Amino acid sequence: MEIGPHHEAARPVTTVNSPMEVSVVVPVYNEEENVLPLCASIKAVLEKEVAGPHELIFVDDGSSDGTFDRLQEIHESYEHVAVIRFRRNFGQSAAMSAGFDYARGKVIIPMDGDCQNDPADIPRLLAKLDEGYDIVSGWRKERKDGLLSRRFPSVIANWLIGRVGGIRLHDYGCTLKAYRADVIKTVNLYGEMHRFIPLLAKWAGAKITEIPVKHHPRRAGRTKYGLSRTVRVVLDLVTVSFLLRFMTRPLQIFGLFGLGALFAGFVSGAATVFLKVVSGVDMTGNPLLLLTVLLFMGSIQFVCIGLLGEIGVRTYYESQSKRPYFIRTILGPGGKDVGRNKG
Ligand code: UDP
Ligand code: MG
Repeated sequence: MEIGPHHEAARPVTTVNSPMEVSVVVPVYNEEENVLPLCASIKAVLEKEVAGPHELIFVDDGSSDGTFDRLQEIHESYEHVAVIRFRRNFGQSAAMSAGFDYARGKVIIPMDGDCQNDPADIPRLLAKLDEGYDIVSGWRKERKDGLLSRRFPSVIANWLIGRVGGIRLHDYGCTLKAYRADVIKTVNLYGEMHRFIPLLAKWAGAKITEIPVKHHPRRAGRTKYGLSRTVRVVLDLVTVSFLLRFMTRPLQIFGLFGLGALFAGFVSGAATVFLKVVSGVDMTGNPLLLLTVLLFMGSIQFVCIGLLGEIGVRTYYESQSKRPYFIRTILGPGGKDVGRNKG
């Protein structure tokens, strides 16, 4: 089955009536030595400690080593495994996204494919979710990664993300989380966005909490990231913080800049004329004249960008029949729970 940006997701979005309880989603990129032991440990936990039907979905993100061969072996020997293979490396967010689209479980649990997350935490995440949360985030309290390359940048990044998004989680970057499917399926992932899922989901009204989870050092294969990831995360944070605030009303931010520039232009223009009249300062030789022109032009541009944004937002929502709200439940007439919408 081919799934790509121009194809419909392989499975329908609604999971309300799904008999499947839990879907574990594992993005893997060149993890040939890790997939077999990882699969065995996830399988053990799912079979012994998770009630109800479950599935394990591997997304091979264009691996160039033997990962896919290992996955094929797993697929043949274990009936609850599905494998999605990308044509090339599209990145961890894209891989997770494909897994989320394909998953049928009422709860979706992504995990790293390098055995750094521990499947033994899955039952605890599920138990916490049952307390009434939509997302339970893992917190690698004792993280087994390099101090300077990982843990230090991560403290700053988590603080920054928390400030922007208004939820304080210790560890946005931890892949191991538990999501209610109807929440995660409304979130679209681009760039390095998977770490911002809690923010995007909170925008959609999700209830979020965190619990400490175990973390192990990488035992085989190499990490796919270095310090440069920090820069990309910060840039994605700019996108997310804009989306969170002004997704449905871009003119309200750009228009504000436009009005500010217009006002400053008037002040600067008035000062130019005032200086000419009172002190005889030559207008063409006065840099304030240039500033005035710049501000007026800037103000027009800001307003136009805002208006274009408004058109873009309408296209986004109306072309896909999306609604600018998310419903938790509808209690219809006749005492029936009519169900949820997909937003
Ligand atoms: N990964 C992926 N595509 C990529 C990079 C990474 O699917 O382009 C997977 C990788 O195989 C692993 C997970 O994402 O299962 C996390 O990657 P990694 O362990 O390198 O990140 P770290 O734990 O070092 O932050
Ligand atoms: Mg890792």
